[in-house]
Amino acid sequence: MQLLRFQFGEGEPRFGWLHQNNIGIIEGNPFAEFRRAEANIPLESVRLLAPIQPSKIVCVGRNYAAHVKEHQAEIPEYPLIFLKPPSSVIGQNDTIILPPQSKQVEHEAELAIVIGKRSRWVPAEQATSVIYGYTIANDVTARDLQKRDGQWTRSKSFDSFCPLGPYIETEFDPADAVISCFVNDDMRQMASTRDMIFDTRQLVAFITSIMTLLPGDIILTGTPAGVSPLSPGDIVKVSIEGLGILQNPVAQESSH
Ligand code: ZN
Repeated sequence: MQLLRFQFGEGEPRFGWLHQNNIGIIEGNPFAEFRRAEANIPLESVRLLAPIQPSKIVCVGRNYAAHVKEHQAEIPEYPLIFLKPPSSVIGQNDTIILPPQSKQVEHEAELAIVIGKRSRWVPAEQATSVIYGYTIANDVTARDLQKRDGQWTRSKSFDSFCPLGPYIETEFDPADAVISCFVNDDMRQMASTRDMIFDTRQLVAFITSIMTLLPGDIILTGTPAGVSPLSPGDIVKVSIEGLGILQNPVAQESSH
């Protein structure tokens, strides 16, 4: 199933499922009991929202060897994790806002794991049973602030710094999918998810040994090489084979 969230005009956000180019409303909780209504709402007639509002977004740094190399960093012995706040999430076609504090905001194309069950101490062999599905993320990062601070919180947490979507695919196989990022149709990143240092199951095991993950929580699995700066007026497209294309325009924040 392809799960999304959408809105008609100013109406209440709804969950829906996608069939070809039509949406069907989902009645109930898509993480528990639900019923799918017939898919008869044209996709173009609604505004897509981020497919989920997570309680937390756990991110993995330095999980592709070529990206580690481009920043002259060390290959980690265990996953290097950090958090992005839920307030950084935006959806398909929403604008990435470049904040006045940074001169170097960059895209990071990433595969996102969506957790389906309350999970703690899940062994890697059982991780698939707590994964609901997968979607695309862009771990937007103020690179200059990241380098200056040492701590990553400020550089990763601005509003709009976590585009997610366009939908969650529940049938996706993360073993070997092509992930790419285009800025204004110029290719900047391309790799396969098989190049991850720690795979999706190892990441679920590691993170649930630290904290309880809740249904709808998101794990960003790290970015391949090729991260590059964004400018006002750019259009960023992150694509993962089988998960569609996540597209966002970029604009400068007006001064405060
Ligand atoms: Zn990242």
